Amino acid sequence: MLANEVLRRIRSVVGADGPVALHEPVFCGNEWRYVKEALDSGWVSTAGERGVEFERALARAVGVPHAVALVSGTAGLHLALHLCGVRPGDEVLVPAFTFVAAANAVHYCGAVPHWVECSTGTLGIDPAKLAAHLSSCCAPGPDGSVNRTTGRPLRALVLVHAFGHPAEADAVREVCRAHDLSLVEDAAEALGSSDRGRHPGSWGRAGVLSFNGNKTITTGGGGAIVTSDEALAARARHLSTTAKSGGVLQWSHDAVGFNYRMPALNAALGCAQLEALPRLLGAKRALAEAYRAAFDGLEGVSLFREPAGAKSNYWLNLLLLEPRCRDERDAILEAANRDGVATRPAWTPMHRLPMYRDCPRMDLSITEDLAARLIALPSTPRLGAPPPA
Ligand SMILES: *Cc1c(COP(=O)(O)O)cnc(C)c1O
Repeated sequence: MLANEVLRRIRSVVGADGPVALHEPVFCGNEWRYVKEALDSGWVSTAGERGVEFERALARAVGVPHAVALVSGTAGLHLALHLCGVRPGDEVLVPAFTFVAAANAVHYCGAVPHWVECSTGTLGIDPAKLAAHLSSCCAPGPDGSVNRTTGRPLRALVLVHAFGHPAEADAVREVCRAHDLSLVEDAAEALGSSDRGRHPGSWGRAGVLSFNGNKTITTGGGGAIVTSDEALAARARHLSTTAKSGGVLQWSHDAVGFNYRMPALNAALGCAQLEALPRLLGAKRALAEAYRAAFDGLEGVSLFREPAGAKSNYWLNLLLLEPRCRDERDAILEAANRDGVATRPAWTPMHRLPMYRDCPRMDLSITEDLAARLIALPSTPRLGAPPPA
């Protein structure tokens, strides 16, 4: 019953029939032109002006001095954690309610994720619960904080802005300061969001963005580190290009680097997509409003709203079932997907994944509860506004 009514209301927003994807890229500006120019010029690889241009435009969009374009958001998280000094045997605090990339990036560093609880208001880390947990589980060590139970150094924290909704970065940063943790922001989903005028990714030592095909803008595949720390940006550039040093007479490498730089072909696409960002954000906001209006008055479900004081990019619109309707979730997902409307459950919490089951953690009952009650709705910007002629 509820499932059919939910489907009817989604259909009233996304169109009466035909398949509807969860999130498709929209190319309605200079994309074809810039990619063709890259092909015509031959500058398709990691050197070339487009990469520099994309980084400048990105830094401007986020409001930080430096952006380093990379092959993926995951690569950005790995490199950012490495640059913050995360080493084998360390622990890194990561929300249990997130996409698996941050957890994997911690693992690539040889470190162990330590799961943190989220809040129902933002879907991001709950700063009060984090502070209480750290006060009881960590102690000052010779070289930063140490987890009293495991004996491992707590080196960093990844703050995720889930589904584009700004997390409580000010408060989380205070907790990080108090416990000597480097703050890395996973803003992969949050391009164009803001919290009292400030862009996600600008609070931490480093912020990470993603331009995967399903994100707000895409470079095909890609990501970036954004930062105010000039030395960190320079180091990120260096290490992401195999730590190449010297010159044409004798190229060399002065550290173990990574091949993580974004090719200029992808950056060309990114330049055009960034030009379109304001239009895409407007369309996504209109779509969020359309969903809200469509579900107005339906008991048991509501649309998840941007946190008070913040502006979300509404990367994926989320339907939140009231606790008494949580058992309807699978029926809703089934009815919608059977009808061709792509809808998805939220992430499986990280501590439920087989490879991360035994990591340290705090109480995660809010994470468990939210994961069982959220449904992601089709959110291609085009659905919120007719494509420009
Ligand atoms: C997409 C995403 C990433 C990873 O980005 P890729 O570019 O796909 O590697 C990381 N974190 C979150 C929250 C994401 O949604």
